[in-house]
Amino acid sequence: MSFDVSAIREQFPILKREIDGKPLVYLDNAATTQKPQCVIDALVDYYTSCNSNVHRGAHRLADEATRRFEAARDIVKDFINAPKREEVIWTTGTTEGINIIANGLGKLLQPGDEVIATGMDHHANLVTWQQACKASGASLKTVPVTDEGELDQAAYAQMLGEKTKFVAIPHVSNALGTVNPVQQMTAQAKQVGAWVLIDGAQGATHGWVDVQAIGCDFYVFSAHKLYGPMGIGVLWGKEAVLADWPVWRTGGEMIATVTLQDATWNVLPYRFEAGTPNVADAIAMGEAIRWFTALDQEAVAAHEKALLDYATQLANEFEGLTIIGKAKHKIGVLSFVLDQGHPADIGFLLDRQGIAVRTGDHCAQPLMARFNVPGTARASFAIYNTLEEVDALFAALKKVRTMLA
Ligand code: PMP
Repeated sequence: MSFDVSAIREQFPILKREIDGKPLVYLDNAATTQKPQCVIDALVDYYTSCNSNVHRGAHRLADEATRRFEAARDIVKDFINAPKREEVIWTTGTTEGINIIANGLGKLLQPGDEVIATGMDHHANLVTWQQACKASGASLKTVPVTDEGELDQAAYAQMLGEKTKFVAIPHVSNALGTVNPVQQMTAQAKQVGAWVLIDGAQGATHGWVDVQAIGCDFYVFSAHKLYGPMGIGVLWGKEAVLADWPVWRTGGEMIATVTLQDATWNVLPYRFEAGTPNVADAIAMGEAIRWFTALDQEAVAAHEKALLDYATQLANEFEGLTIIGKAKHKIGVLSFVLDQGHPADIGFLLDRQGIAVRTGDHCAQPLMARFNVPGTARASFAIYNTLEEVDALFAALKKVRTMLA
């Protein structure tokens, strides 16, 4: 199999758009990726052919919807190499997955217990553990970030101890692109008996994930950064842990029996899936993963690396540009500041030239404070981006520099 970027681009209708007469150069993929036609078709097809509520109907449509919905769960199970399909819980996205676990954790922790998060966390990962600690009287420690934008491994090793009950680490930093050594960090946390959650929002978007190889207890991610729809994601958790984890939302589907005074809980995965699920988007998430994993993964990785390497080379040659985040192992993200101009101005002036980047704190305010910047401009790459688009970004940046001078 080989990798034909023009054939891939053909499958994304939105990439044909123009912005003020200029071709769209979409470099905001860490915020959300665009969707291939087959994912859009999966949504339309569900609503035009078998829309129905799942698990409870006695008719053909309910049966078909349930089968497609549960088949999507199997696709996710294989994608992350989960041992069991029951361990795959549908959520609205990464944020909800983290909240489900943090809510339960708040009830399990005792004063004196410690939770470890990191200085490069997305607010979804940091603020949620802050709240779990406040609810329980536990304390939060955060692994510092080095000047290169890596997690300080020596500091992490020092933090771990018998008080450590929970460790939460981003697989890949959305603001810096750093790929963290999650397997090694999980193994260290396991030596002190802590539970480990990996925030895979940016990790599951670049290829197969192997939760068994990582060794974590929980892995969370969103479909919309993986060529799938918004409003759907997955919490994976080890059956042995999830089966006893305190339930979060209550309601239909998650119960086994109900009396006027009390209730008992359903088995996994339904225990954490209260209410009518987002059936169409779950099916379309399955389609996105099916589509993505059918590509030659080595070629995909090589293409993404070529984009980042080329962008980094041009950034290093660009006068007045500072890259924020120079980790040895990086993926998909070029975050930078210019000597002149606030990141918001850079974003605005790039947009005028058809280039879509993200600017701001990237939901990582403590990380921006660590690097002493108000925010950055961030170009983030996906498989449909081209080297020509990287050229277009830097040609446009030259104009931005002149305009800001
Ligand atoms: N963690 C990371 C590292 C992210 O990049 C994001 C999304 N920017 C999230 C968590 C939250 O994901 P979502 O908004 O899809 O819930």
